[in-house]
Amino acid sequence: MSKVAFIGLGVMGEPMARNLLKGGHIVRAFDVRPEALESIKKDNAIAADSPAGAANDAEFIFTMLPSGKEVYQAAFGDEGFAQSMSEKTLLIDTSTILPADTDEIAGKLATTKRRMIDAPVGRLARNAVEGTLLFMVGGSESDLEHARPLLDLLGDKIVHCGSVGMGSRMKIVNNYQSTSLNVLTAETLTLAEASGLDVNLAIEVMRETTAGRGHMNATYPDQVLSGNIKPGFMIDLAHKDLGLALETMAKHHTPAFLGAAARQSYSIAQSSGQGRNDWTAIYLTLRKIAGLEPSK
Ligand code: NAD
Repeated sequence: MSKVAFIGLGVMGEPMARNLLKGGHIVRAFDVRPEALESIKKDNAIAADSPAGAANDAEFIFTMLPSGKEVYQAAFGDEGFAQSMSEKTLLIDTSTILPADTDEIAGKLATTKRRMIDAPVGRLARNAVEGTLLFMVGGSESDLEHARPLLDLLGDKIVHCGSVGMGSRMKIVNNYQSTSLNVLTAETLTLAEASGLDVNLAIEVMRETTAGRGHMNATYPDQVLSGNIKPGFMIDLAHKDLGLALETMAKHHTPAFLGAAARQSYSIAQSSGQGRNDWTAIYLTLRKIAGLEPSK
């Protein structure tokens, strides 16, 4: 049984704190919203009146706050928890924040030998309730092992991404894909509806194709990531098919913000001589634009 401070009892933090309590830990909680503290007190958490008060004597400090600004404030602001930390305390920041903010907070703590791991979470609010979150952890092996029994109460998958800051970096990468795909999904289903299709039927079809299975499942591992750009489906054809969709969308006046940008990417790949390569070779074009070393 450990003494745990939990700071930030919102949609994600409240059920996470509750799962730590269920796991038998002593939780001292802080949130700027008094009603959040009242709610978690019903589960036998102790309400603190500041981050420093919550962290007093704690072995672990969890933060689940909106952004880097709030994490920094909770750590180093008036009555911040940093002043209650000793060399034995481990900060586990589960918030989604800018990697540069993680680096700054970790760097500032390290000047006085105080330790942290960044452990942002993947998945949804219901997974926080069920204790089935995915943690992307940046930090030392030993700090992760120290935190693991607590993380196991909150999630069912823990991925060690590297040193401090790499969890935040992984989370940003993950969210780029999930937040952009959300818009692409909305564009796609709007087109389905405007075309007179049943949206649920469209989903049923696309769940069985690359559209719904996703390129990370269906194409990239066997093609471009294995150095195989012999066409399963060539860039020229992807360019043509996306053009057919855009023409149809123009007729229906449905938005194609991401689709239009994607077509330009295919055009650039074609003009750099990739037209007859597999469509996943678009990755090589984008890597080149980014100035990354050619892949082996
Ligand atoms: P939320 O707004 O519901 O919760 C944030 C909590 O922090 C609130 O209770 C708020 O009162 C409290 N707070 C704000 N400033 C504070 C401060 N200075 N000191 C103490 N408490 C303070 O947000 P959420 O949905 O729980 O998300 C928290 C983090 O988790 C975010 O970084 C978010 O991007 C990330 N995240 C959310 C989800 C999700 O599905 N909601 C999923 C994965 C990751």
